[in-house]
Amino acid sequence: MGHYTRRDFLRISGLLAAAAGLSSLQARAVAAGLERLADGLPRVAWIQGQSCSGCSISLLNSEQPGPAKLITEYISLVFHQNLGAAQGDDVAPLLEQIRQAGDYILVVEGSIPARMPEACMLAGRPVADWILDLAGPASVIMAAGTCAAFGGIPGAEGNPTGAQGVMGFLASQGLSTRGRVVNCPSCPTHPSSMVGTLAYAADQGYPEVHPDLLTPTMFYGSSTHDDCPRFHYYAKHHFAQRFGEQEGCLFKLGCLGPLTFTECPDRQWNGGVNWCVRASAPCVGCSSPHFARYRDFPLYRKGEDLHPVGYTDEDRQGGAS
Ligand code: SF4
Ligand code: SF4
Repeated sequence: MGHYTRRDFLRISGLLAAAAGLSSLQARAVAAGLERLADGLPRVAWIQGQSCSGCSISLLNSEQPGPAKLITEYISLVFHQNLGAAQGDDVAPLLEQIRQAGDYILVVEGSIPARMPEACMLAGRPVADWILDLAGPASVIMAAGTCAAFGGIPGAEGNPTGAQGVMGFLASQGLSTRGRVVNCPSCPTHPSSMVGTLAYAADQGYPEVHPDLLTPTMFYGSSTHDDCPRFHYYAKHHFAQRFGEQEGCLFKLGCLGPLTFTECPDRQWNGGVNWCVRASAPCVGCSSPHFARYRDFPLYRKGEDLHPVGYTDEDRQGGAS
């Protein structure tokens, strides 16, 4: 990236600011971070498959550390399709160089079109092939967001591309995922979970994870429901009847909090400003393997006593593909 000038970094960050809604101050911080990328830090190669780039944008909402500090003092972001300077013909040689050097954390954002590889190309090759190449030498493979973890929205029932999460894709190719893949789901991934897991993996290696979902227990160990400030309503069977009600548990409005494992009630979103249930909206289970999976299971439902898909406690412990 050395041939880029500060003006180039500012221009790239200006584009980022427009895309991500960053303030000019934040964009300048990102520019400074990009400019100061240093060797010797844990190297991170970030590949995007079938994604909306929302998880990358969520990462830029990281506060502790902030985005500039993250990619300058904590990691060396050696490749990123949006943030990196390498474009066009530079991409393939750079990725090959990274692969040969080894010793990097591979982050995958978005799902992999296993049945239609040409649906997602990078530098003239299917992203699926790049992921297979880069997975081998990686010290840890991190899935950023529910699409990369479990298929997410691109993996919804009826999708023609055969979209899969990283662990499902690698397993289908006969590659091991245990002790290698860490899933940081939610739509988008929460910057704190992602940064915390990344920092842990860089410093300590593979973290403790759920045995089936491969989610790091330090961030996904308790259910949204158990820590929900409306739990006392649930215990008393006091249920809200309409969306937006300030009182009552949202379970009968389709809340999937009992089946969803995140720290949303504690850390909330946008720097701790708010989260779904506090905004009187049901949890739609965006970090669950079942998220957006079923055609006849809309995100928002009303007046249910039971979820039609028939989730059970067992379901929430597994079922990822
Ligand atoms: S609102 Fe949702 S997460 Fe909160 S107690 Fe009710 S069912 Fe559980
Ligand atoms: S409360 Fe549920 S839907 Fe909202 S961000 Fe958290 S896991 Fe996702």
